This record gives sequence, C-alpha cells and structure tokens, in this order.
Amino acid sequence: MIVTKFGGSSLASATQLKKVKNIITSNPERQVVVVSAPGKRDSSDYKITDLLYTLRSHFKYGIPDDGIREMIIKRYVTIKDELGLDIDIEKEINEFFASCSKKTNTATVVSRGEYFSARIVAKFLGFAFVDAADILTFNFDGKIDYEKSKQAVIEAVDKYGNIVVPGFYGAYPDGDIHLLSRGGSDVTGAWLAAFLDADVYENWTDVSGIYAADPRIAKGAKTIQTITYEELREMSYMGANVLHEDSILPCQKAGIPINILNTNEPTNAGTIITSEAVHLHPITGIAGKQGYVSFIINKEHCAGEVGFIYRLLSIFNKYDVSVEHIPTGMDTVSIVTYSDEVKNCTHKIVADIANEFDCEVYTEKDMALIALVGRQMQGSVGISAKIFEILRDENINVKMMVQTPDEMTLVVGVDDDELTTAIAALYEGLSEANLL
Ligand code: ASP
Repeated sequence: MIVTKFGGSSLASATQLKKVKNIITSNPERQVVVVSAPGKRDSSDYKITDLLYTLRSHFKYGIPDDGIREMIIKRYVTIKDELGLDIDIEKEINEFFASCSKKTNTATVVSRGEYFSARIVAKFLGFAFVDAADILTFNFDGKIDYEKSKQAVIEAVDKYGNIVVPGFYGAYPDGDIHLLSRGGSDVTGAWLAAFLDADVYENWTDVSGIYAADPRIAKGAKTIQTITYEELREMSYMGANVLHEDSILPCQKAGIPINILNTNEPTNAGTIITSEAVHLHPITGIAGKQGYVSFIINKEHCAGEVGFIYRLLSIFNKYDVSVEHIPTGMDTVSIVTYSDEVKNCTHKIVADIANEFDCEVYTEKDMALIALVGRQMQGSVGISAKIFEILRDENINVKMMVQTPDEMTLVVGVDDDELTTAIAALYEGLSEANLL
C-alpha cells in the first residue's frame, strides 16, 4: 500500500486536481490520500490557510472581513464547478462560517482549509472522506496518542479501502481540534504511512525532489537522488524546507521510505529518503538559516570551573529556551540559540547570567548558520579545508564552527547578511571540487 500526500500547490485549481487524479488512478496501491488546503495558483495568489488565519482575526475582533470569506468560498466553488462535482460545498462552507463566533478558536477555523479540500478531493476521486478529527487523537499535551490513532486509521482503511484524509489537524480527547504547525499535512501523511506500514510514503509537491542547496540561492542546484533520514533531518532543521522536519521520524522509526515527487512532472523519480542512501559525493546537501543569537560570557578560567556550564544552562532552562551550540574557550563560553526562542527574554537572560557569575556578558545578534551535511564526510580528509578556502576567497568571516560527533554535519556561523553569498559560493566551489 502507498500513502500519498499532496501539498497546496497540487490542489490549488481544477487543473492541478486532474493531475492528482491521474497519479492516483495510475496505481491502485495508492489507497490513502492526505491533502493540504488549496495553495497559491500563481505568485500573486493567496493560500487558503493564510486567508483562514486572517479571517479568524476578523472573527475574534469583530471587524468586517473585507471579502475574505467570499474569496475562500469562491476558490472551492470554482474548483468544484470546473470539475463538475455533485457536492454542495458552498452550503457546507457557509454553514461553517455561520456557526463561527468571536469564541471560535484558530484551530477550528484554520483546519477547515484542509477539511473542505478533502471533501472535494474525495468526491473527485470516488474515495471515502475520513475526517482527521475522527482518526487522529492527540493527548492534551499535544502529543499524538499513537496506539489509539493507529487503531482508528487501520479500521478506516479496512472499512472503506480507499480514503482521503485532511492533513494538518486531529482532535483532543474532548473533541476539540488540535492544529499542527505550518506545513503539518506532511506529518499527517507520515503518521498514516507508519500506522499502515505502507510500502512507501509519497509526498507530492511542486518540485522534483530535494535540492542539494536552495536553487533560488545556488543557481542550477541539482536535486538529490537518495538521502538518509538522518541527513534530511539535519537539513530540514537547518532550513531546507521541502518536507516538515517532524514528518521524517515516524517513517524512519517504521522503516518506510519517503519519496518526494512532483505533481507537475510525475515521471521524474524525485528524491528517495531511506536508511541506506547511496551517495556519489561526501557532501549530500547544504542548508542555512538566519536569525541566531550568541550569548557570550567572559570570565577567567570559566570553562574549567566544575558546574559552570551546568549553572549557565540552568538559566536557559528556566526560560524554556533550547540551546543550539556551546562553543567554549579557556576564559569564554558562548551559548548559541535561535532568536525566536529568546525574543521575549534576552535581557532577562543577560541579567541572570551577569548576577549568577559576576561576569561580562553580551549578545551578538544576526548570525546565520550553514550546515553542510553528508554521511560520507566521516573520515574524509580535506573537506573542511576546502570549505574554509571557499569562504576565505569570498572574504566571508567565519564566526563559529562546529562538527557533530558523528562527523555527518559541519556547521559554520557567518553574518546574517552573508548567508546567501556563502551558500552560493559553497555550492559552486564544492561541486567543482567534486565534493558535492
Ligand atoms: N495548509 C497548511 C499550511 O499552509 C498545512 C499544510 O499545507 O501542510 O501550513
């Protein structure tokens, strides 16, 4: 059995939906279809999910919605009409909006994007519509109730055979909607694939696989044929955003390969993510992200002082901040975090550190981190030399560097402003040197 997931661009219009139908009907193994809400039809268009977030604010503050409702309804009705489907989607959506008040929460409103999308796709494919709220249960801490959900998903497939499920949400035990983070339909698909022990999880999008570097930055960047779960998790964590980072682990644990495919070019083999990927080069891909902050602490002999790091980390723990890296020197320690994590507590953390250690402490903002990922970097000589040579030739200052203990990832910190230049130069230089 194959579990498929189609992203917003694959569901944006009737034309796209016809491509989806061709893909599904060309292989009867494709029994389970997870859908996003309709995305943009072109660059000037809006994603239905973004419109729903905006609409919910209008509901909440009682402000007229400027025709947003109509835009949403029109999109679904146009798709339905162009496909000639016998389903009164306009009535369903209107009834939902009529039931909304100031109190209707974001999850309830926003999840309808995928809900109505799945209603249409199910009708078009002739598959059963199964509401995610009926099969995916989340505990009150937001974690999936694995066993209960697995049971329900298996039962749904046993009962209906072929199903369409809206992505991006499920329900708490009391029935309230639980929304995943943005791009979460990928995660829904991964869970379904794991629960059903699928042969493969196909993730259909608008690019033919995962690029070795962001092609908007690294011109002519190639796609990766195969990549391991671990490598992709590193790349996703560091900003490569083809697949939601939380969607990899469920498939990795269940040993299910993920295939990233292009709805607009369905014969392209795309990228396969497995445990045993074969690489031709030591580096598989480059990803990078702006917006890191470094808390720098200067105090004589601090690195050698027993319990110093422990006490320092307790301060970050107190503010529930996750720490990315801890570069240390004899008399200096720096804590690198993602700026979003500390946006409301930077000054409190600085004050706490200064009080606790009676030391000099300051922050350095606007750092970007670049991850060079490759399982075969392990034990290879000269790769970091080449990386630093490329950055030197571009006159880019390296603010920090870290290699993971398994030697799979090399992380380089540069100024935020230099991120794109650095990635472009690294992609070009490493490809030329046959290392990527
Ligand atoms: N529609 C949601 C989003 O735009 C979820 C998804 O597409 O995966 O984030």
